[in-house]
Amino acid sequence: MLENLTGRLQGVIKNLRGQARLTEENIADAMREVRMALLEADVALPVVKDFIAAVKARAQGKDVLQSLTPGQAVIEVVNDELIALMGKANEGLNLAAVPPAIILMAGLQGSGKTTTSAKLAKLLKEQKKKVLLASADVYRPAAIEQLKTLAQQLEIECFDSNASQAPLDIATATLDYAKRGYYDVVIFDTAGRLGIDEAMMAEIKALHAYLNPIETLFVVDAMQGQDAINTAKAFGDTLPLTGVILTKLDGDSRGGAALSVRHVTGKPIKYIGVSEKVDGLEPFYPDRMASRILG
Ligand code: GDP
Repeated sequence: MLENLTGRLQGVIKNLRGQARLTEENIADAMREVRMALLEADVALPVVKDFIAAVKARAQGKDVLQSLTPGQAVIEVVNDELIALMGKANEGLNLAAVPPAIILMAGLQGSGKTTTSAKLAKLLKEQKKKVLLASADVYRPAAIEQLKTLAQQLEIECFDSNASQAPLDIATATLDYAKRGYYDVVIFDTAGRLGIDEAMMAEIKALHAYLNPIETLFVVDAMQGQDAINTAKAFGDTLPLTGVILTKLDGDSRGGAALSVRHVTGKPIKYIGVSEKVDGLEPFYPDRMASRILG
């Protein structure tokens, strides 16, 4: 995870750590290197600019320059700003709704939406929630079956929808079933197309309006780098997202999406996908990710 970025930053850190004194010029050199590393990691340009400006402003202050270990002080500033960039603290799910609390899952096909729905259901089941999974992904062949199979494996109930039904009808029936069965949480998986299109947006907007979810989570493949960010932004512009789940971080050596998505969309990363397995979903902690990046 994020090996390339960490590798690139290691050199800068080593240089800084060795400095007994730092000048503004030393800092400017180091920042140039950090900037290159972030750009190579596919971090969005406006994010890189804001980040470097924030680090520079603090690193050239007298607290850092007059510190006994100025190199270390700069590294700490970089660490703090990385944490701030990714959202400061973990933001968990908000399930404070009259039950059932609805979680609407959105994202493109292949982003990992179906797998993530099941992973999330597993985490909530472990928190003793009565969870219902449901899928209105009537376009991808076998998507509904895939969710049913995962649910069965996890011993979690999955609403019995099928691909011949209209998504809104599935939503109506699911909600009715969940209310009658006193479910705490419904995780509602939706169709993911290959790209963003009007029909898809209209459909998910209608589902959102009907279900009135307390959480609308955008699932996005971290390996898509800046494309992931652009897709997240486009979804966020039409749908009131409450958070992002970044999947396939285990295969992402660069880290551009992880570092950019919060800044660009304004939405917190709530979870990260770290393996294909059903237990491969973790809450996202900006401070842990920053430590990992800095090695
Ligand atoms: P959907 O089309 O968005 O519903 O995508 P799927 O849930 O079918 O996932 C697409 C592929 O990505 C599958 O092969 C999943 O096993 C895989 N996948 C999903 N999340 C992760 C993850 O966090 N890490 C890895 N390595 N693979 C993942």
